[in-house]
Amino acid sequence: AAKRAGGSVHCFYEADMANDAEMQIALQRDLRHALDHGGKGLELYYQPKIHAISRQTTAVEALIRWHHPTRGTVSPVQFIPIAERFGLIGALGDWVINDAFRQMRQWQKEGLRMRVAVNLSMHQLRQNDLVERISKALREHRIEPDLVTFEVTESAAMEDTQTSLRMFDQLAALGVRLSIDDFGTGYSSLAYLRKLPARQLKIDRSFIKDLQPEGDSYAIVLAVVQLAHALGLNVVAEGVETAEQERILLQIGCDSLQGFRYAKPMPAKRLAIWAASEEGPDHGAPLGF
Ligand code: C2E
Ligand code: MG
Ligand code: MG
Ligand code: MG
Repeated sequence: AAKRAGGSVHCFYEADMANDAEMQIALQRDLRHALDHGGKGLELYYQPKIHAISRQTTAVEALIRWHHPTRGTVSPVQFIPIAERFGLIGALGDWVINDAFRQMRQWQKEGLRMRVAVNLSMHQLRQNDLVERISKALREHRIEPDLVTFEVTESAAMEDTQTSLRMFDQLAALGVRLSIDDFGTGYSSLAYLRKLPARQLKIDRSFIKDLQPEGDSYAIVLAVVQLAHALGLNVVAEGVETAEQERILLQIGCDSLQGFRYAKPMPAKRLAIWAASEEGPDHGAPLGF
């Protein structure tokens, strides 16, 4: 790689870059192969969102995992950008949407009526036929639109606001819900936020991580919760890990909680068992367990 990077002197930086490019090409080839074979190796995990007071599971968020044949489990943080760069995000997004809906239907047959949140990337929002494809998938899997939420990051929602807004309005017209993900890391104007047909706002994990009484994050989280409530949105805190974070979030009036403290993302089968178990929604553990 050093030779290819030019010269006889070892240049680790360039060598790494070359490796990185090779790695990306290898991954995109493998991902394409997986998508050509019905999503072989891809799996959706599900992480509960818990109502802060009732402790009921209000929804589960679908988070993709890739069990790579030789590299082990590859993180979506790594392969979603590759899918975007190599034109695979449309096919990958379709796979996610269809597999999530298939799973919802399966759970319903087992007597579990679960609200499911699906992440959409910025590149997916740029696809003209996204709404059509979602509409088709809803019909094919016979899913009530009201049980489906799409999570869009604040920064994606703020990109090309005219187009995004039109897209969100079309999605809302289908009857699905919209959630603004990773809130606090983008730069949304209040005027635009008010126009969005969103139902939910998710506070980015970075603010929850640093949450302490009287810290900066405390002030930000409090302000975000108040803003969201003023706009009629419910608020989810993401990445809740400790009892102290939970205590503060309850005090601030955050509506729902999501994080390793309650449950990690898990395969669909395990989620169903979890939902029916002691820890699950209806038999919920008391506050502050
Ligand atoms: P996100 O939508 O903000 O998802 C939250 C991430 O935080 C997930 O990482 C989740 O596993 C992790 N998380 C949840 N609770 C905790 C906690 O208490 N502590 C810590 N340290 N982490 C926690 P994951 O699954 O690796 O996903 C990362 C990102 O990849 C997601 O961020 C989302 O932007 C993207 N992504 C995942 N699945 C999909 C998908 O199906 N489609 C698209 N377009 N993007 C996806
Ligand atoms: Mg999300
Ligand atoms: Mg998030
Ligand atoms: Mg995130």
